[in-house]
Amino acid sequence: MSPSKPLLDATGLQKSFGENKVLSSIDLRVNPGQVTALIGPSGSGKTTVLRCLNGLEQPDAGTVAFDGGPQVNFGSRTSRQQRESLRTRSAMVFQGYNLFPHMTVLQNVIEGPVQVQRRPKAEVIAEAEQLLARVGLAEKRDQYPHELSGGQQQRVGIVRALALRPSLLLFDEPTSALDPELVGDVLTVIKELAEEGWTMVLVTHELTFAREVADQVVFMDGGVVVEQGPASEVLRAPREERTRRFVHRLL
Ligand code: ADP
Repeated sequence: MSPSKPLLDATGLQKSFGENKVLSSIDLRVNPGQVTALIGPSGSGKTTVLRCLNGLEQPDAGTVAFDGGPQVNFGSRTSRQQRESLRTRSAMVFQGYNLFPHMTVLQNVIEGPVQVQRRPKAEVIAEAEQLLARVGLAEKRDQYPHELSGGQQQRVGIVRALALRPSLLLFDEPTSALDPELVGDVLTVIKELAEEGWTMVLVTHELTFAREVADQVVFMDGGVVVEQGPASEVLRAPREERTRRFVHRLL
């Protein structure tokens, strides 16, 4: 059997902020339907990887390709059009939800599909209502973010990402801003999406959850990938000492 074509193939990603080299040379391959947990100490570059994949940051070097499609080759000559082409392939769920405070739940969800993707509004609204219903928020559609709990806001954040119909979902520590009693509902939604076959990369400190849902685990430290492999191996029997210390502290 030939290995499946990766949904995401990123190679040699590098990123510095001024003198601070945040990503040294990151390779990341994600197969369709696969859940990848990106773990590592604070400041190791995990969020920056997601932002580079989503086009929110431009890597200084490296390549990113989706679905065996055209490879975007980063460097000084990367065009705006090439960068934009990445944006539509993935959608990000942020740690702090990042909902627009002056817009209702429904407006938050339909903004991208209608304004950026130029899809017909009636169709987008119908889809948004279905998505809100599936995360138990149908009756919140006309409320504003500040009227919702953190867990509800994050579920809106997830619906907003899904409404963009991305091929890849990126989660940046989606539960770390939540009160402990609200974490479960959000993790349940993420788990259901994984079971439905969504492809996702999840930055998380919830290693118990990662062990449950992730197929692949990537451990980063200091801007490099120290170890990556099947979740069962990296979390249960890490090969590298740095991974072992990190995992044992959190599991
Ligand atoms: P992690 O997600 O693993 O905690 P980040 O990717 O958020 O790590 O950050 C990695 C490093 O990059 C940190 O030292 C952080 O201060 C720095 N960094 C991230 N974004 C910026 C930015 N926009 N400008 C300057 N430094 C940044």
